[in-house]
Amino acid sequence: MKSHVRAAVIGGGVVGASLLYHLTKAGWNDVVLIERSELTSGSTWHAAGGMHTINGDPNVAKLQQYTINLYKEIEEISGQSCGVHLTGGLMLAGTAERWDWLKMVNARGRYLGMKLDMVSVDEAARLFPLMDKRHFVGALYDPIEGHVDPWGVTVAYAKSAQLKGAEIYRHTRVVDLRPRPDGSWDVVTDKGTLQAEHVVNAGGLWAREVGRMVGLELPVLAMEHQYIISEEIPEVATSPTEMLHVVDFEGEIYMRQEAKGMLMGTYERSGKPWSERQTPWDFGHELLASDLDRIAPSLEVGFRHFPPIEKAGIKKVINGPFTFAPDGNPLIGPIRGLRNFWVACGVMAGFSQAGGVGLALANWMVEGEPGFDTWAMDVARFGDWATLAYTNAKVRENYSRRFRIRFPNEELVAARPMRTTPVYDRLKAENAVFGDYWGLEHALWFAPEGIEPVEQTTFHRSNAHSSVAAECQAVRAAVGLLEISNYGKFEVSGPGAENWLMQIMANRMPAEGRIVLTPMLSPRGKLIGDFTIAKVEPERFFIVGTYAAENHYLRWFERQAPTNGVSVRACATDYVGLSVAGPQSRAVLQGLVREDLSTAAFPFLSFRRMDVGPIPAMVGRISFTGDLGYEIWVRSDYQRALYDLLVAAGKPYGLRNFGARALHSLRLEKSFGTWAREYRPIYGPYEAGLDRFVDMRKNDFVGRTAAAEERDRGPQRRLVTFTVEADDADAIGDEPVWHEGEVVGWITSGGYAHTVGKSVALGYVPTARATANSGFEIEIVGRRCKAERIDQPLFDPKGLRMRA
Ligand SMILES: Cc1cc2nc3c(=O)[nH]c(=O)nc-3n(C[C@H](O)[C@H](O)[C@H](O)COP(=O)(O)OP(=O)(O)OC[C@H]3O[C@@H](n4cnc5c(N)ncnc54)[C@H](O)[C@@H]3O)c2cc1C
Repeated sequence: MKSHVRAAVIGGGVVGASLLYHLTKAGWNDVVLIERSELTSGSTWHAAGGMHTINGDPNVAKLQQYTINLYKEIEEISGQSCGVHLTGGLMLAGTAERWDWLKMVNARGRYLGMKLDMVSVDEAARLFPLMDKRHFVGALYDPIEGHVDPWGVTVAYAKSAQLKGAEIYRHTRVVDLRPRPDGSWDVVTDKGTLQAEHVVNAGGLWAREVGRMVGLELPVLAMEHQYIISEEIPEVATSPTEMLHVVDFEGEIYMRQEAKGMLMGTYERSGKPWSERQTPWDFGHELLASDLDRIAPSLEVGFRHFPPIEKAGIKKVINGPFTFAPDGNPLIGPIRGLRNFWVACGVMAGFSQAGGVGLALANWMVEGEPGFDTWAMDVARFGDWATLAYTNAKVRENYSRRFRIRFPNEELVAARPMRTTPVYDRLKAENAVFGDYWGLEHALWFAPEGIEPVEQTTFHRSNAHSSVAAECQAVRAAVGLLEISNYGKFEVSGPGAENWLMQIMANRMPAEGRIVLTPMLSPRGKLIGDFTIAKVEPERFFIVGTYAAENHYLRWFERQAPTNGVSVRACATDYVGLSVAGPQSRAVLQGLVREDLSTAAFPFLSFRRMDVGPIPAMVGRISFTGDLGYEIWVRSDYQRALYDLLVAAGKPYGLRNFGARALHSLRLEKSFGTWAREYRPIYGPYEAGLDRFVDMRKNDFVGRTAAAEERDRGPQRRLVTFTVEADDADAIGDEPVWHEGEVVGWITSGGYAHTVGKSVALGYVPTARATANSGFEIEIVGRRCKAERIDQPLFDPKGLRMRA
């Protein structure tokens, strides 16, 4: 065993092996993989080996495409077969809703370069003769689907890495990890200790236990998963071609050919977690006891839908555990607070995803950035609220819903309500329909009195539509009240605070009592954050950004090494907030404060401490509605009193509660972008139209050189606004944008702009098309709707209302 290495990867499943290969490919050859037993000794060995490119998140889908294309490369390097069977696949729709969903998947595939095809039920039956047509309405065909040999793939990665200098220590268990003062790690194994500059937890089934060695409780849980293998089926045995991969959503089953029969796996509704608290170290190549009763409901549907499988009977049942994160996506990236410690775990579809996971993480370790948009996979997307019990509830929910439709307006119910603010009960009493954002409840919209506050899930406009319209109307015509506690907040203070912020933010810092908007850029000049920053005191800044990115930001701030004179603190729930917005908002607030709120005395983008009634608060004159408005921040023990005061003061002015759905509509008609939709690490500030918030005349700052290049070269694409001729379904995001018969871009968000009465969408198109007004179409639920690109926001294009 070596005594010192650049990186030690813990775990020789498909994920660890892929990462090892990608590290060597990126130029780190002094790397080792440490495996407790033989390679594949966790989940990997009993996987069904299925692979596909389709994923709900287009960025994850891209990494899945990459994974599948990689098999040829590692076969060639290693000489080891991956056992690739590229059969193609069918996703079968049994209902009209599923058919709509498939149309949306098909549309998304267009700008990802996928060659998907909607096929009739007759065509589906021709492609897959085992199905009984009567249960289906059609299917989506994907030529890039199939299955691989899990062992072959893992060994091919491992051998390819070894040929580039990596070493693999089998039958060696990591028993402890100890940080050293220089940021490296002592990796203590049962065969001795080695020092590693970087450590990666790719422990799969034991990722939790490896995490606990460094004080981490990772949100992963293993679920038992069963598949059956049928006896020989004559139609399969005599078929001239291999059977396709098939997903039957109604049966919640997937299938592929195995020898002369079929393999049929299921994500049953009553899924069972495995080793809920602790994975035994002596678990190895054994299978779990099968439990056909648990999957019987799915099998019954499967047998009905595919009669030859029932006729053949079951030859074998496989039951094995594998891990999931609460949302089913991988957990990758560096861990805040632990230098040079990385994770690559929670990968539930290793044969579709391990290649992409390995590539992104290797880039991140070697070059400092993943090189892809890994937002959906980043371990930082969960906060410390994602406890063991939370994870347990969410993973069960996610597993049981694996093949169910997730509607764009659907809120999942497990582990809720968990975190609530003091006004939760007040809003509930007002008939709020709640959503969950980073574990915190917030109002989406308010149902009319006497109507149950429930939103019907749909791809079309929902029962929320008229209530949201009334909320928007209240804001634009009078005044609305919105809880804004679920914005992320940070305090940066100390004598070095301003200089440090000037280094890491793209805009200049504000004068005391003022607010600026600023993007934060990566060294490659990509958007990694967008904030409003208020200077509260000479050495104290209050920063508001996206709450769901709190961990990402803190991790980045930590990497930008604040000096001794700077203290950085997340304070999202120390300060909860309420906002009043609309033409009468000033009058409402003025009645409660001594300060003069006139524009002359307290103009747009002002920020000041003031008492609202008796309540000490910080007030900023800013609103994401694009209207006159104020954000009021108070300690949580004051929030209820503040709410009551505002409601009472607002009554004569027609004040009405509004929620996140109305805010979305209001910001769309102002063409305001938002984090994780319009602003993501794949876009530069000029592409995103944030030019005016990048100050090239100030000091050097992170990403400046790359941003200047983008500006000088001219952005490749542009964020633009469309109005859409849509009937009852609006764009939601990820729809393709067609221009003159060609797919040229994609939508980032969309919805109905109630004030102007139009369907609206924001999205990116190549710069050359960004000035065209006509010839655009946006494909919404399978229908290409005419769209018009517009040059300025639909509502108050000059921004006079905000400044009034
Ligand atoms: C029944 C079943 C069917 C499946 N079907 C499919 C499918 O069709 N398609 C698909 O893509 N995926 C499928 N999967 C999921 C797939 O198996 C996983 O996505 C994949 O195996 C995850 O790989 P991993 O490397 O993260 O974890 P693992 O395979 O669990 O590997 C982790 C490795 O780390 C080692 N290790 C852990 N701790 C230590 C330590 N302290 N020291 C040293 N070594 C350590 C373990 O021994 C193990 O070998 C299936 C899983 C099951 C159970």
